[in-house]
Amino acid sequence: MRIYELAKQLNMDAKELIERLKKLNFPVKSHMSSVDKETAEIIKHEIEEMKRKEIEENVIEVDFPIMVKDLAIKLNIKPSQLLQDLIKEGKFFNINQSLDEELACKIAYKYKVNLKRKPTKEEEILKTQTKDLRPRPPIVTLMGHIDHGKTTLLDYIRKSRVAEKEVGGITQHIGAYQVVLKETHHALKRITFLDTPGHETFTSMRARGADITDIVVLVVAADEGVRPQTIEAIDHAKVANVPIIVAMNKIDRPNADIDMVKQQLSKVGLVSEDWGGKTTVVGVSAKTGEGISELLELILLQAEIMELRADYSRPAIGVVVEAKLSKGKGPLATVLIKEGILKRGDWCVCGLSLGKIRAIYDDRGNFIKEAPPSFPCEILGLNNVSNPGDQLLVVDDEKSAKEIIERRKEEEEKKKFFIPSHVRLEELYKKVKEENLKQLKIILKADVGGTLEATEDALKKITSEEVELVIIHKGVGVINSSDVLLAEVSDAIIVGFKVNVDPKAKDLAKQKGIEIRLYEIVYELIDDIKSALEGMLSPQIKRIFLGRAQIKAVFKLSKAGTVCGCQVIRGKVVRGMVVQLLRDNEVVFEGKIISLKRFKDDVREVKEGLECGINIGYDRVKEGDIIDVFSEEIISRHLER
Ligand code: GDP
Repeated sequence: MRIYELAKQLNMDAKELIERLKKLNFPVKSHMSSVDKETAEIIKHEIEEMKRKEIEENVIEVDFPIMVKDLAIKLNIKPSQLLQDLIKEGKFFNINQSLDEELACKIAYKYKVNLKRKPTKEEEILKTQTKDLRPRPPIVTLMGHIDHGKTTLLDYIRKSRVAEKEVGGITQHIGAYQVVLKETHHALKRITFLDTPGHETFTSMRARGADITDIVVLVVAADEGVRPQTIEAIDHAKVANVPIIVAMNKIDRPNADIDMVKQQLSKVGLVSEDWGGKTTVVGVSAKTGEGISELLELILLQAEIMELRADYSRPAIGVVVEAKLSKGKGPLATVLIKEGILKRGDWCVCGLSLGKIRAIYDDRGNFIKEAPPSFPCEILGLNNVSNPGDQLLVVDDEKSAKEIIERRKEEEEKKKFFIPSHVRLEELYKKVKEENLKQLKIILKADVGGTLEATEDALKKITSEEVELVIIHKGVGVINSSDVLLAEVSDAIIVGFKVNVDPKAKDLAKQKGIEIRLYEIVYELIDDIKSALEGMLSPQIKRIFLGRAQIKAVFKLSKAGTVCGCQVIRGKVVRGMVVQLLRDNEVVFEGKIISLKRFKDDVREVKEGLECGINIGYDRVKEGDIIDVFSEEIISRHLER
């Protein structure tokens, strides 16, 4: 093939191609030079890649949504040209209407521009790194089966290591505490314990984006050994990639059987170091205190290996672990500092609240001036009660704080109609093809051990070149909230065999968009997964009629686009929901309610009899048209039983 022919195929002139080939260290003499078919293919690929990279690097930062006329300026083209491009996409806009991120980026790409959202103030603050990295104490969570002694162990550690130093000190429960192993300020002689043991708290914090635990101490009673919640805890820690130290508790009991427990631990992948494995197992008694100093030393050793560091000089970042409203003081939040040093007088934002830090208390209720990384403290000064998992962020001043909160509130409002998108079997094929999904993670629950094994074996036999099936947790018993939380953080589906879902878990799964599939017969599951892998499993969508509105007047507004002045004649109209536009009883358009207003205010819903302004993103609406409103729900064949 001649170079000029190749250039034509690549949509460029021969001169440009020759220049580009030079850059790729592939010199050609002239446009008449020829290359063989294979080389032509390689060149095509390389040039496409080169072009893609060029666009990738040509970043222009903007705010979304962006008005057509503003985007035209950024792309250095005429607005009329941009409108033409939009028509080609099947979209009819005027220059004062706004484009969302997806559409704007798509158009910009044609002009070799990579549009990026301007970083928010908050993102800019989070990026500040001054790199004053120094060691910080480890943050530890205790997990294990109920009654194996987590609370007793936490109490023992607190009493023996904290209270004795305080003359008449009353230890407070603030959600976390720090113990000092040696009276030095060296970070590596301190350990912070989260005071709310259990893997559910651990994973629900992670689901909220707060990965605070560095090390998990798995408490296993030496007389009872590995139990179902022990296994849950192990899997939760594994998914989070957090190292586990086993505290084998109750060794004071006469029926304690250390070897039996070590053997059970080996079976679930935790082989003790003295048995040639990698897991630190230490015998303790929360009653007599035996082994606890050793446990603390081993935690510090693990922390040292992990080289836990924090930046001490950047604006502080923390995570809320507990929050309450104190009658006398106002909103109080227990915060674990992750980076930086929190100081009295700092302005900060936290979830949807903001404020100036008026007071900081340590875990014993003492006033302190500042709190360094890994330090648990209680703070006063926020204007609202926060939620566990909220991030505390120090900002420059009140103005920045208000700006960030405004933005967060807007986003929160948008999210109200947004069901998180987690993997579902029906969409597996699409995710594999479009998003390059490589693994299907499964949580497997069954009624008895035998069924569990049989199902696992059958699952393991499914082979696919593109997707690997990974069982991240399996267990016997009903599907519980802990399974749903684990599915949420690891983006897994839950499969149940001859088991039910507890009502709390069912609600949670619905809220989080987690798929639960229940089966009675093994081959049905295998069939479903096989069809899902082939893209043959389609979702069933149930539409629920919510209400009907009639258009009384049409307004073409310069900024907001076409707004329909309506009266709700049946049921209710809800923002974000699906609509059908009916004219003479025929559906002429389907879309969503983009905005809903009562007078000048944005509202979430409007009830029968009332008037409202509805924007459905369609210009050719007419007076007298009917808008029918529906909610949509994806139903899995096996979810409802
Ligand atoms: P959690 O559910 O894991 O928090 O367990 P708890 O801390 O509430 O302990 C359950 C029971 O075990 C309580 O009655 C404790 O007194 C007892 N216990 C905890 N640790 C020990 C121990 O080391 N030795 C003995 N003998 N009993 C213990």
